[in-house]
Order: sequence, then structure tokens, then C-alpha cells
Amino acid sequence: MERLIIIGSGPAGLTAAIYAARANLAPVVFAGYQYGGQLMFTTEVENFPGFPNGVLGPELMEHFRTQAERFGSKIENVDVTKVDFSQRPFRVWAGDDLYEADSVIVATGASARWLGIPGEEQLRGRGVSTCATCDGAFFKERHIVVVGGGDSAMEEALFLTRFGSKITVIHRRDSLRASKIMADRALAHPKIEFIWNTAVVGAKGEFHLQALELENLVTHETREFAADALFIAIGHDPNTAIFDGQLTLDNARYIVSDDGVHTNIPGVFVAGDVNDIRYKQAITAAGMGCKASLEAERYLEELDAERVAGGLETASA
Ligand code: NAP
Repeated sequence: MERLIIIGSGPAGLTAAIYAARANLAPVVFAGYQYGGQLMFTTEVENFPGFPNGVLGPELMEHFRTQAERFGSKIENVDVTKVDFSQRPFRVWAGDDLYEADSVIVATGASARWLGIPGEEQLRGRGVSTCATCDGAFFKERHIVVVGGGDSAMEEALFLTRFGSKITVIHRRDSLRASKIMADRALAHPKIEFIWNTAVVGAKGEFHLQALELENLVTHETREFAADALFIAIGHDPNTAIFDGQLTLDNARYIVSDDGVHTNIPGVFVAGDVNDIRYKQAITAAGMGCKASLEAERYLEELDAERVAGGLETASA
């Protein structure tokens, strides 16, 4: 029987773990087989306070993890497959085991979105990818396409200039959603070209990607476009499949919380991108993890007080 289980090991989950461990709650963190969250797939992080010269995403997550373990968090690299929040203690299935806990923090984050176009699935890992850090080095001196107009797309495109001979960013509108600093860097880069108002509607190639089918969204003309790699950077979906029917989700499948911490089940808290459709920053996720942990601590104190009062009543009866 655990006091607190934390599901997820990105900035939200591990910040929650640091705070909970320092409050002597010995939290169990189910980190997932792919632990560390989305920063594990990124390169230089320049906007996380405390690192004036930037820090690599995976290195930053190692710091989070070491700090959480230092105070007694138990971190397991397994996926949670099922939860039951309908009864107390709460039940969580991870790996082959069932765990029970007085409280839970859900910090499962979000996963990269795919385009859902013909050829995409067959060519995954054969030229089609959502992770430039993982796969970019395979495309030295090749023509690389990046889809998207946000910060992720700009970051991927800039990173890929280290490898590709040419990077083409294809965006469905005629202006970028990315922050000005990232957009300006990408627009000014000599290796990066932009194709506007265009959708990638197909990926072609027998053993690996060879060409994309493009549709001009103004004229609706289609054409074939030779490319060796396609990196998709069009945002993320929250990882909430295991909470279906357990926690209230909104239309976009984010966990609903009135105050960004409490869920519809008292004792189950939420933190990070799984609740955040707007900011999605490592620092905001970390802040949410801190808040969730403090609320869990308060909840557990109240639970203990109720148990003591219940015990006293039973003893005097
Ligand atoms: P995002 O800001 O939601 O941008 C997604 C982009 O993909 C948009 O340009 C969107 O087009 C496009 N898109 C979405 N669905 C599409 C589809 N089906 N087909 C084609 N294009 C599609 O997502 P993000 O870039 O992953 O960024 C998420 C958050 O993380 C943001 O807050 C961002 O600032 C932050 N972030 C920050 C950094 C950094 O500071 N270094 C790096 C990465 C991410 P529309 O513009 O037309 O909607």
C-alpha cells in the first residue's frame, strides 16, 4: 500500500516526485518504458531557468530524476496499463503488478501527432518520423521535409540543418504559429525553404520514403515532391487512454480540472501537458507538478486525520 503513486516522469511527474519525496511520502513513480517525457526527444533547451547556457533535454531530465531519487522516490521504468479510481485505495496496474495507493498524481503528458495520410504508417522508421533528435542523423546530405508551423517544427527544421543538404518546411497556412525568435531563426537560415498553404497528403516509397504528395490548399492542385525524409511536427495529443471512464476528459481528451490540479476524483491530481492545452512548457509542467504534490500532501494529511478520528470513535464505542 503506497501513500502516493505518480504516473509519468516528465518535468511534471518528477517535480511532483521531488516535492513528495522531500515530504517523506516515498512516492512510487511509474516512469514508463520510455521515461523522461518529451524533453528526451529534444536537443538544446534554452528557456529553462537556471541554465544560462542552455542544457540538453535528456541531460535536464537526468537531473530531475537524480534529484527525485536523492530524496527517496522509487522510480520504476514500467508503463501503467490500467487504473481503477472507483474505489479506495486507488488501484494501479503497472507491468505485471497491482499497486494500491491513497493518492495518485497523473502526469502522463502528451504524444506526437501523426498526419494520418496514406503511406505514413508503412514508411514509419523508413524516412517518416516524429523525432528529429532520434532519426535526423540518418539523413546526412539528404533532402528533408518538416511539416508544421509551430515551435516544434522550427526547432526540428533548425536541428536538421546539421544533417540535411536542404530542409523544406511545409505549412498549411501562410504564416507561422511559432514564437518570433524561433520563426526568425528558421526563416533566415540559408538551408531552410518554406512552402506555404500546402498540405502533405501522401507519402510514397517502396522500402523507404522517396516522394510526398502535396496539395496546394488555395488552388487544390496536387503534385509529387521528391524527399528523403519527412519529419512531422504538428503538435501532440494527451496520453489519457487508460483514464477513459475513470477521469473526466474534455473534447480534445485532456483531463478536466477546474483549478489545474484537482480532478473529478478527490485524491487523484493532475499535472503537466495532460491537462495543459495552452502552454505546454517544461517549466509550466514542473510548476504544475509542484502544485499537485502540495495538494496531494494536504489531502493525505486530512485523510490521516480522518483515520485517527475514525479510530478514536471506534475505540470509544
Ligand atoms: P503547436 O504550437 O500546436 O503547432 C502545431 C503546428 O502544426 C501548427 O502550425 C499547426 O498549424 C500545424 N498542424 C496541426 N495539425 C496539423 C495537420 N493535421 N496538418 C498539418 N499541420 C498541422 O505545437 P508545437 O509546435 O508542438 O508546440 C506546442 C507548444 O510547445 C507550444 O506552446 C510551443 O511554444 C512549445 N514549444 C516550445 C519550444 C521552444 O521554445 N524551444 C519548442 C517546441 C515546442 P496551424 O498553425 O495552422 O494551426
